[in-house]
Amino acid sequence: MAFLDLFRPKKTKIVHTPKEVTLLSTITCPHCGHKKQETMPEDACQFFYECESCHEVIKPLEGDCCVYCSYGSEKCPPIQKDESCC
Ligand SMILES: [Zn+2]
Repeated sequence: MAFLDLFRPKKTKIVHTPKEVTLLSTITCPHCGHKKQETMPEDACQFFYECESCHEVIKPLEGDCCVYCSYGSEKCPPIQKDESCC
């Protein structure tokens, strides 16, 4: 029955499904505590962010690639996708 063997379903590979990426992140200003929901650029990192309340320019903490990783409720999209960024 070799012929039928051809039609045996192959073992399905475990496909790495892309994770849901959240583009909304709530940034909390480290200076005044002001919170603002922002839409993150999907394939970029934002290094500077000006707080709309105290107008302090926020920079990422050491080791973080962008302000969303440091102060946002969500990490930036490249990090969420396990991609290296910047
Ligand atoms: Zn602020």
